[in-house]
Amino acid sequence: MARVFNFGPGPACLPLEVLEEVKRELPEYLDTGMSVMELSHRSRDFDKILHASSDSLRRLMNIPEGYRILFLQGGASLQFSAVPMNLMKNGVADYIVTGYWAKKAALEAARYIRVNVIASSEDKNFSYIPNLSTLNISSDVDYVYICQNNTIYGTRFPFLPDTRGKVLVSDVSSMFLSEPMDVSRYGVIFAGAQKNAGPAGVVILIVRGDLISDDVPSFTPTLLKWKTQADSDSLYNTPNCFGIYVCGKVFNWIEKMGGLKEMKERNEKKAQFLYDYLDHSHLFKGTADKDSRSLMNVTFVTGDEALDKEFIAFCDANGLKNLKGHRTVGGMRASIYNAMPYEGVEKLVLVMESFERAHHL
Ligand code: PMP
Repeated sequence: MARVFNFGPGPACLPLEVLEEVKRELPEYLDTGMSVMELSHRSRDFDKILHASSDSLRRLMNIPEGYRILFLQGGASLQFSAVPMNLMKNGVADYIVTGYWAKKAALEAARYIRVNVIASSEDKNFSYIPNLSTLNISSDVDYVYICQNNTIYGTRFPFLPDTRGKVLVSDVSSMFLSEPMDVSRYGVIFAGAQKNAGPAGVVILIVRGDLISDDVPSFTPTLLKWKTQADSDSLYNTPNCFGIYVCGKVFNWIEKMGGLKEMKERNEKKAQFLYDYLDHSHLFKGTADKDSRSLMNVTFVTGDEALDKEFIAFCDANGLKNLKGHRTVGGMRASIYNAMPYEGVEKLVLVMESFERAHHL
């Protein structure tokens, strides 16, 4: 079986070069005589892997000195609880609800603090990013929360909201490393690795040093306290060693390819090509508002569920996998992360054209 083009939203495609390198090193990592999966997380060799991964990420994202990088577990979803636990002072936060994951994060936070939903796009099934210039940010909030790229709906914040000096927390899971980011504008950034950074099971949290504190509610599990993880350099307990190792390889690959500026250019080129086709197609149409469109997840429908299903099967037969949209949106979703080559998008458009022709449109 040849490798296919995997348009899955996460776990997602990884660069072939990375997979080959991992394969080469799998039975014996350097001169250790064992695989990374067998190395002690307390060994010097793993320590080197952890620090090299962290250093590479810091260079890539230009992460300022005062920020810590933590490699955590529990998925991005566990940070939905960790965020309020670690940041609560007044016990109130503002949430901008732009999709399923932001809503889940708000609901989880509401178990511990008062949550104000200051903007939402739920009225139109999250197909747009709400007006960010009219936000009513309260003076007493501990933080303002956003999910910057909405994996399911194919939307992305066109710019960051002005939080009036309040700490900005962003779930960047599905846009992590896809473009340069000004880390200094955020208090906390977190991402599940399984989209653009590596295998599932690693969560990367980038947090401003002064937000790491012992002053958390007594019910906070030790492992959810960022300070626990920061003090032990992400080694309080056994981390996902293999996952961190693969993430490090992906970071190196991105650096070798030219860094985040280069990723952005490539990603814009791919997304532009697909959106241009969608905008001219008589059969397919994009579901996200044009000015809120994601570079990473492109959502579209034919308007006929049976035809969508037929199209997905047609793609499948042509080696284009995992294009089925999330059940809350239906239709199709092409996730075109860093590791998706331009040729994959070209092939998708060719297949779309051919399907469209076959349906005499
Ligand atoms: N946030 C976003 C934006 C996501 O896309 C996802 C998963 N698709 C999550 C959070 C949840 O991530 P996890 O499964 O790692 O908990």
